[in-house]
Amino acid sequence: MKSNKKSPEFNFYEAALVKRSPLFEDCINIVVGRGNPNADILFVGEAPGKNEDEQGIPFCGRAGNNLNKLLEKINLNIEEIYIANILKCRPPQNRDPTPEEIKEHTPWLLKQIKEMKPKIICSLGNYATKFFLAKTNVDEMKNQPGITQVHGKIQEIEIDGIKMKLIPLFHPAAIIYKRDLEPLWLQDMEIVKKYCKN
Ligand code: URA
Repeated sequence: MKSNKKSPEFNFYEAALVKRSPLFEDCINIVVGRGNPNADILFVGEAPGKNEDEQGIPFCGRAGNNLNKLLEKINLNIEEIYIANILKCRPPQNRDPTPEEIKEHTPWLLKQIKEMKPKIICSLGNYATKFFLAKTNVDEMKNQPGITQVHGKIQEIEIDGIKMKLIPLFHPAAIIYKRDLEPLWLQDMEIVKKYCKN
């Protein structure tokens, strides 16, 4: 299977932190992102799953189909957004990320944010949402409210002097397993549409 793990592009400090992480040993690909890195809107998920690991592309599996449907519903084109994850490598059996892994992997995400300077971040699920609500302090993530409390509630955030709006959303995979979330998810999409389409 094709792997980008030895790519000469990944020759910078934040990538070295990821390569030192035990998750790097077992993954097939580093999953950096997809879409337009100059877009105003950044979607941030949790971690690559099996398909993402095999293809090196975020949200290309089942959760990705749901994300694509959502984007279609609100007429957002992939060229208008960029999609990345908290972790760059797949955790074994898709288990939850540990605080240590989040500390090792998010410097790269923060580098992406500083380069991209998005106006809006849509955080998908608990991990991405708590990371931003904790002002990127991983040890503070456990003290943050969960996605059920904050979904659809816009927050003003600032990273390295970059002021952004955070729109916390349910994770697209959660919608697959919890169908009763769908009406809430659709309501939140209206909010995304309002802020992202003008
Ligand atoms: N779930 C995520 O959080 N990210 C992906 O890239 C795929 C599934």
